[in-house]
Formats: sequence, structure tokens, C-alpha cells
Amino acid sequence: MTTDTIEQQIDRLNQQLKKWAVAYYEKDSPTVTDQEYDESYAKLVDLETRYPELIRPDSVTQQVGGQISSQFSKVTHRIPMLSLSNAFNREDLIAFDKRIRKLTTQPLRYMVELKIDGLAVNLRYENGQFVQGSTRGNGSVGEDITHNLKTVKSIPKRLAQPLSIEVRGECYMPKQSFIDLNKERELQGLTVFANPRNAAAGSLRQLDAKVTAKRNLSTFIYTVATPELFTATTQSGALDELDSLGLKTNHERQLCDSIESVWEYIEAFRDRRHELDYEIDGIVIKVDDFSAQEEIGYTVKAPKWAIAYKFPAEEAETVVREIEWTVGRTGVITPTAIMDPVRLAGTTVSRASLHNTDLIQEKDIRLFDHVMIHKAGDIIPEVTRVLMDKRSSASQPYQMPTNCPVCGTELEKIESEVALRCMNPMCPAQIKEGLNHFVSRNAMNIDGLGPRLLEQMYDLGLIKNFADLYSLTEEQLLTLDKVKEKSANNILTAIESSKANSLERLLFGLGIQHVGAKAAKLIAEEFQTMAAIMRASKEEISSIISIGPVIADSLHKYFEHDEARLLVSELERVGVNLSYLGQTSEDIAQIESPFKDKTIVLTGKLLDYNRTDAKNQIEALGGTVTGSVSKKTDLVIAGEDAGSKLKKANELGILVWNEKQMISAIENSRKVE
Ligand code: NAD
Repeated sequence: MTTDTIEQQIDRLNQQLKKWAVAYYEKDSPTVTDQEYDESYAKLVDLETRYPELIRPDSVTQQVGGQISSQFSKVTHRIPMLSLSNAFNREDLIAFDKRIRKLTTQPLRYMVELKIDGLAVNLRYENGQFVQGSTRGNGSVGEDITHNLKTVKSIPKRLAQPLSIEVRGECYMPKQSFIDLNKERELQGLTVFANPRNAAAGSLRQLDAKVTAKRNLSTFIYTVATPELFTATTQSGALDELDSLGLKTNHERQLCDSIESVWEYIEAFRDRRHELDYEIDGIVIKVDDFSAQEEIGYTVKAPKWAIAYKFPAEEAETVVREIEWTVGRTGVITPTAIMDPVRLAGTTVSRASLHNTDLIQEKDIRLFDHVMIHKAGDIIPEVTRVLMDKRSSASQPYQMPTNCPVCGTELEKIESEVALRCMNPMCPAQIKEGLNHFVSRNAMNIDGLGPRLLEQMYDLGLIKNFADLYSLTEEQLLTLDKVKEKSANNILTAIESSKANSLERLLFGLGIQHVGAKAAKLIAEEFQTMAAIMRASKEEISSIISIGPVIADSLHKYFEHDEARLLVSELERVGVNLSYLGQTSEDIAQIESPFKDKTIVLTGKLLDYNRTDAKNQIEALGGTVTGSVSKKTDLVIAGEDAGSKLKKANELGILVWNEKQMISAIENSRKVE
């Protein structure tokens, strides 16, 4: 091979990697997987190592990836924010260990940390006060995102000591928030984020801090950029010092005496990573001692004393047999690939969301294609790419539907959206989905009304809208499949008790575009009655903290329709409560309860309470009840026959109470009436 063609290869790889990096760093929307990027990057490093005379100063290997958008003010980093070199196997780690031992005579210990898949941020504190936060940008200059970072709850506005320091960490989006956000975006016809990392980056690089505030971001701080102001002389000591200042560090970390024990930790973590409630893309190995770090030094792009071990991407091959289209409650139609069942990261997968038509076209997915799939956010199966060399020559591009699969109305594509929509408000699929949403747990919470029953009721003409639910009779329910007297009565009782719900549940249940459960709560708390909400101007609605113009506009428009006003008066006529009954923030401040500000998980069978009542009581006492146990959980209440959640709580050393302890705490708490 001549030097000329090597140069061309280097050029091609650089151009390709730069193009991918623009999509990833600037648009927060990658066009290839990290593995594909890393493979091409490794090829480039290999060529540049063999032909160092061909290394160009503007090569991607010589620069920290990422640019600065002109939308933000620039922040020049006093100390550059670097990247990390990669290791992909045990041999790479052994080579790293050998390499750095040549650069120092000091005995080495390694601090092993999780590589959180988010966005690097620099936080500057002056006299203990948070004054500036920025992105890594190109490593020397980042973007000023102070106003957005101020909305991230885990970032303290004030440190425990009045220090003037700079610290660095990763801002990330928990897996569940990522899944919820994508579901919501899909429903709104918007593009979905490829992974929690891009979702976090997209949420932080926002001009409107209200959007960031709603995205439930969190941080782990992993470095002090000004170590001279710390007493610690090691990374492990610095992490403890960061903790004591009130900065959230990741406690899943370990000090290792040798590269062999680092490898043992990595092996043990391979499967455990799926249990975390945030995504990691590897393990970072850092020389622990600061003076040894200085001795070992830096390349232009990364410290030589640290390396990131990257987990191999979990992918599986399968064949697409069919593309199924479903109509959501906002009329968006979503494609799902039906595939040959295949094992992937611990489960059998046979369906993968294709999100929208653009994605099918972009990836050119066709029926009978062999495809690779992975799990976005470690949970949601997605098609990563088509294996083109396995495609039959008779294959034809997929024909997108032109009409609604349910009501047959011609589909429309709205300019600002990626989705196809059925615009027929009377489309049975939309109405049924709307009914499902209305009765769901965070909305009117009507137990016993599953999608099949609602579908039957609708098809039989028993209900046409939400208000009709309240006029259902026992005789009507008994005409439905599998409904006996007892379940009919339970359903009627659940419908009846939903009338007393606080306003925010109804407001969310109406399914108004962009009005999620959190927004509904804030709006209901502010206006107190449905009548006041219906009277409110867009400006009045968007003046609520965390409610942006998009929500305000959508809510306002909804109530401009006569049908919506008619529905509300129907609901009022049948006795549904239209007032806010919850607590205001001042009320919450007066609560005295062990549940207040705590994250609590209920598990097992409760004898004296049903789950929903217990949840409501705890939430009325300022606690938050969540579904899964993680390190963030403060208390687990275990009823009879509690299983895996109790086991996990014990493993994590989380406080566990029985039902009696819960009841006594509820009785001894001071609630605001
Ligand atoms: P990196 O993400 O591989 O590693 C450096 C970063 O790790 C740091 O900046 C920091 O943000 C983060 N980090 C997380 N936990 C940490 C911890 N405990 N200690 C220290 N740092 C920690 O490097 P990079 O330069 O930010 O990005 C390169 C990588 O991004 C590539 O390897 C690739 O996987 C991905 N990428 C993908 C595409 C694509 O199109 N898919 C494009 C560009 C880059």
C-alpha cells in the first residue's frame, strides 16, 4: 500500500468522524452507534500510530470533540476539559498499565469509577456560591449554561464551606425519565432522542431553562479541577471531600491495587450495570495519587493517567417480518417492527419501535430485512441498522401508509413534525386511547377498566366520551365479556370515587397536548378551579414557573373549542370535582412527618391499606412514592410476601419498615388539613 492511499484513508476517516461528531455533539442526534464511531476512530488511531508523519493538527485524534453553539455565551475554561482514551478489552488495560508504569516510579493504585453516559459540565463556585456552569465544548471553550444547571436539583447552590473552586461531573438523564420523555415526544409527533446521553445534552443545551427544569436531570461530580484548594492528595480522597461539600458523587467506586483487580471489578459490573437507574457506557480507571498523575502527564486530548474501558455494545441480529401501525390518542401513528424473536440483554425481543416514517426512510428499513437491534436506554428495543449485504435483490422500499389504519382518513404530515397524523378527532382509535389515558393511574385512577373493556364499551356505544363513564349502570356492565356482578360493582365504585379526585388528575386525564402530569399539578395548584383555568390567558398560564409557552398555548387552544367546554360542563353535571384539593408549597412546609422529602417504595401485600390509599397518604405527608428500589430510595415499606424489591433494599442497606410501622408513622405525622 502506498503512502498516498494511507493519506487518503486518513483523510476519509477524519471526514467521516467529523461528520458523525457534528450530529452527535452539536445536534445531539447521532447518525451512527457509538460502537461504529469507536471502530472508525480506532482505525484512524492505528494508521496515525504507524504513520505519525501523516497526523494532521486538525485530526479528530488531536482535538476534544464538540463545538460551541453561537446560541450560548462562551466560557473559556481556566483548565482545559479533556477527553479520555479508550480500552476495549483486558489486553488494552494491561498495555495501559505497562505504559504508565514506565512514566513513574511511584507505586500505583487505581480509582475505578463508573463512566456515566451524560454530558460533562464544569461548575464554578465562588465563596461557596454556585456562580457558573458550562459544557465541555471543544475542551478550551465551552458554552455558558448556568441558568439551565440552576434547575438541576442535585447541584447545590451553596457548598457546605465557602470555597472558591471548580468541579466537574456528568449531567445525566435517568433511564426512566428518558423513556417517559421519548414516549411523550412520540405522542407529540416530535423526533425522539437516541439515548439518555443525547437526551441530557439536548435538555441542557436549551435556551429556555423551563424546558431543562422539566427534564429531571441529575449529576455525579467526579473531579475537582482546582485540587490545590483541597486537602486531599488522591482522587479517592477528593471524592470524599466533594461529598462532604454537599456535591453528589457516585458511591459505586472502588480503589484497586492492581490492573488485575480492576479487571475483576469490570467483569463483576458487566451485568450489574443493567440494574442501575442511569446508563453507563464503561468504567473509568484513574491513577489515584495526584502527584503520580502529574508525573505521568497528558496528551493534547486526554490524561495519560486515566483510561475508559468501554463495554461492548449489546446487539442482536433478527429479521423484520411486518411493520405494524398504531394510532395514539393525539392521532400520531407509530410504526413498530415485528421481528423474529431474539435474546437481547437479558430478555426475548420481538417488537421494536420504529418511532416515525423519517426513521424508516433514513435507515431504509424494509420487510424481510436482516437488522441489528439494541436497547436504547438499556430498555427500549430499537433497530440500529440494516444488514444490507443480506438483503434480497427482489427487496422493495417500504411503502408508507397513506390512510389511517383504523378510520381510513387520509393521513397528514405536519411540517414541524416527523410523524404522520390522523386528523380525524372522531377516529375510534384516538377516542379509545384517550379513554385509556383518562382512567390511567396518574389521571383519574379508575381501577378495573382495562383497554379491552373500554374498547367493548365504546364499540357497543355505551360510552362516547369521558363524561359517559359516569352514567354507566350495572346492567350495562353485565353485558360485557367476563364482567360478573362483583367486578361490575368494583368498577362502579372506582368510577364513583374518582369523582372526588383533585383537579390536577382530571386536567391531566383530558389528554391535552403537552400537558403532562407535572404541568397539570402546577396549573391546578395555581388556578385552583377548572373555571379559573378556562378563563386564564396564555400569559397568565406561562407565568407559572416551569410552564413554558408551548404548554400555555396548547391549554388555551384546547378550551377555545366548544366541545371541550361542553365536556367540562357534562363532567360537572355528573358530579366530578373541578377544584384543586392538594397542598400548596406553604402547606407542605408545615408538614411534620418521617415521610416528608423522602423517596419511598411500597412492596408486598398490605393488609390494612390498599396500595393506592397508602400512596396517597404518604404523598399527602410530603413523601414521593416510586416503583423501583434504587440507591435513591430512602425507605421501603414491605408488606406480606415482599420479593425482589425487599431483597434489593436489603442489599443496598436501605431502611425497611413493615406495615405496622408505616401506619404508626402516618398516625403520628402532622398533616395540613
Ligand atoms: P468519552 O465520552 O468516551 O470520555 C470522556 C468523557 O467521559 C468525559 O468528558 C466525561 O464527560 C465522561 N465521564 C463520565 N464519567 C466519568 C468519570 N467518572 N470520570 C471522568 N470522566 C467521566 O469521550 P468524548 O470525547 O466525550 O466522546 C467520545 C465518545 O463519544 C466516543 O468514544 C463515542 O463513543 C462517542 N461519540 C459518538 C458519536 C456517534 O456518532 N455515535 C460521535 C462522536 C462521539
